[in-house]
Amino acid sequence: MKKKTPEFKNEDAERKFWTNADSTKYLDWQSGKRKKLVQLRPRHLAAVRLSEGNIESSTENGLSRSQFGARAPLMIELLDKAIERLTEVASCKHGCRGQDHTVENLVRRLVNLSLAALKLSKVGYYDEALLLVRSGAEVANLLQLFSLSRDVHTRWRTNSEEREFRPVQVRLAIEKSGSQPFTSASHYKALSARAAHTTHEFALTSHGEGGHVGPWLAVPGFLLTLAETFEIVRSCISIVGALTDQPSEVQSELSALFEEMAKERSPITVENYVTALRATLESS
Ligand SMILES: [Zn+2]
Repeated sequence: MKKKTPEFKNEDAERKFWTNADSTKYLDWQSGKRKKLVQLRPRHLAAVRLSEGNIESSTENGLSRSQFGARAPLMIELLDKAIERLTEVASCKHGCRGQDHTVENLVRRLVNLSLAALKLSKVGYYDEALLLVRSGAEVANLLQLFSLSRDVHTRWRTNSEEREFRPVQVRLAIEKSGSQPFTSASHYKALSARAAHTTHEFALTSHGEGGHVGPWLAVPGFLLTLAETFEIVRSCISIVGALTDQPSEVQSELSALFEEMAKERSPITVENYVTALRATLESS
């Protein structure tokens, strides 16, 4: 049972309230029980800076008490399992191909980016976590292109600075071969707009409950970064087995994990985040 959010006289009063309140006690993302989202305008920011350690323990507590919804802990469990599998691939656990290990090293980069994104999400840096997800998305698309053409991989080994290996060209090449890129143009654009491009919107939006400086606990922000990290990792699970010539039993296990992850896909993405959040809030 969530606490009732008080009525606020103005934005300052609401901001002050959320500075001290534990948002997970009030906000129920699953059923959307929250009165109003502060609309950010250029103004001074709340001066309170929370500790990362406190936010991390609140996040862990919230997860264990289903405050992030019932599916979030399941998604984290599957994500851990998938990252573990990618770690095995990156470190030749099931056999070494004896090549130059470039694919294995790209998988390693993806593992590290995903672990770092999860860590940042847990301590309340959601926008920054998305920046890592965006880099992960580039790695994932490149691996996808390699899985479609071994020739491309050979060319990349000798000259990865070429224009054809820029993120947009990689995406176009995947599309040209008739496949759907793991990260589409619109998805990449949304990640960039929220996390990387220094636009006016970039200055004002945040996954926190308002314009706070420093880390902040926000259920929707965490669910979004979790979903985005999950998607990148899930995509790669579908191709790394064949791409790194894993033994057939390992490839079967990876396929099974991919199917299991498909069942837990979150409906929240960076593309529909604002619309979904608004709809949830308006329906409450
Ligand atoms: Zn090796």
